[in-house]
Amino acid sequence: MSRFSTAIVIGGSIAGCLAAAAVAPHFDEVLVLDKDKFPESPQQRNGAPQGAHFHALLAAGREAMDELLPGFSEQALELGAAELDSTAEVMRLDRLGWSPRFPSSLKFLMASRPLIEWVIRDRAAAIDTIRFLPGRAVTGVLTTDGAVTGVRTKDGELAADLVIDASGRRSEAPQWLAENGFGQPVETVVNAHWGYASTFVHVPENWEPGFRALACVPFGEGALTPASEKRAMAMWVVEGERRWVLTVQGSAGDYPPSKVEDLLEFVSSIGAPELDRALSEVEFPERIRIWRDTTNRLRDYAGMAERPENFLTIGDAWAAFNPVYGQGMTVSALDARTLSREIADHLREHPGSLRGLAARYYAKNDELVKFCWSSSTALDYRIPDVEVTVDGVPQEVSPGTADFSDRLAAWVSLDKDRYMKFRETTQLLRSDDWLRSDEVVNEIKEKWNELGALVTPR
Ligand SMILES: Cc1cc2nc3c(=O)[nH]c(=O)nc-3n(C[C@H](O)[C@H](O)[C@H](O)COP(=O)(O)OP(=O)(O)OC[C@H]3O[C@@H](n4cnc5c(N)ncnc54)[C@H](O)[C@@H]3O)c2cc1C
Repeated sequence: MSRFSTAIVIGGSIAGCLAAAAVAPHFDEVLVLDKDKFPESPQQRNGAPQGAHFHALLAAGREAMDELLPGFSEQALELGAAELDSTAEVMRLDRLGWSPRFPSSLKFLMASRPLIEWVIRDRAAAIDTIRFLPGRAVTGVLTTDGAVTGVRTKDGELAADLVIDASGRRSEAPQWLAENGFGQPVETVVNAHWGYASTFVHVPENWEPGFRALACVPFGEGALTPASEKRAMAMWVVEGERRWVLTVQGSAGDYPPSKVEDLLEFVSSIGAPELDRALSEVEFPERIRIWRDTTNRLRDYAGMAERPENFLTIGDAWAAFNPVYGQGMTVSALDARTLSREIADHLREHPGSLRGLAARYYAKNDELVKFCWSSSTALDYRIPDVEVTVDGVPQEVSPGTADFSDRLAAWVSLDKDRYMKFRETTQLLRSDDWLRSDEVVNEIKEKWNELGALVTPR
């Protein structure tokens, strides 16, 4: 097997650690540079401020993390993460009402974002060729003959055979490429002006509210109350039975407030007494943190006619999704898993050469990235005053409709097996081909009015 000297990963967060693990078998050393310093234990850190807000890990993301970093789930559970039955222990309210509850074999791993990230980094650090260099901000890339050959930091230059940008939603890679005479990827931004307010609450001992995770997403036309058309919330157990994360969301600029009393009022306006009851029983020992940068931002690296060799992007640096839809960590993990397979196949076919790997990596992952992009933006297109730009130029937006997707959701909720298949699809464990098959589409069209009548608040 051919082996190279050095790979550099920019950013030692979730996508960066997974990418490092993916390429590690092919390099003498993988250097992971991060501008931030890493905590000694699972804790919030400056370089990943989103860690204060809930992070749902989709089942496919967990599976890919376990494959790239064996033992990930076990270590997370040992450190206090919870494993929940996705239907029996998770209560979900949408415009169809409360979703069906019954025991199932689909399990969710629930933990705080700092814990998930910490376990991933801890396991990546155990791979002997991976070395973390914290406190090293990358300021540019070095190029020769159409290929990236290293990075620039304020402490000097570092050479590499492969450079992977995993520096997150504020990645400066497009500017770095332009500085070196390359084109930039087309950048599309969709902003439905969502805001988050989150905190970790303390629940009573042996608390039995009837769920271990609660998600209320009744927003949109026909929501429970006029206020709840734009509002959503979720809470679930994280490390330690009495510590739960609470995140409240508002769209179209209807941002949730940062004071406890105001936040309770905001949640109450959703119109589900179950939420008021649950929140009246918990304590708020920590401050409420606010987040407003929820834009979907796609840099279309896969669509570039020419791109530098030996340079890849992954995670939010490539496509940052509106976090409301909980896809970011999972897409990072699935992209990294594809990278581990593609680099192995590429080197089998072209021993000793990384040329062509970038094109192959983007081509293989593009379908997943674009699928997640369309599902998260399709929902945002339905939100009033959504703003869309392509390379900074404002675009006309034709408002989307939920007529079909609402009826589809109603149709799956009528049958347990169908419902589980649907959950597996939304967890990215299964392709959505079956949902788009003639058989399903025709049945929904036949039952259009009957299914439409089910799309009422409760
Ligand atoms: C509020 C919020 C809630 C979210 N909720 C969910 C959720 O429920 N489920 C989900 O799957 N995803 C969620 N996400 C998305 C998720 O956080 C990311 O998709 C995921 O962490 C992958 O990010 P990343 O590793 O690409 O980037 P990040 O986690 O942002 O990390 C980037 C890293 O790069 C470092 N860095 C930046 N610039 C440089 C530089 N120049 N040089 C060196 N290092 C640099 C930073 O210090 C940081 O460590 C949420 C995001 C937000 C903002």
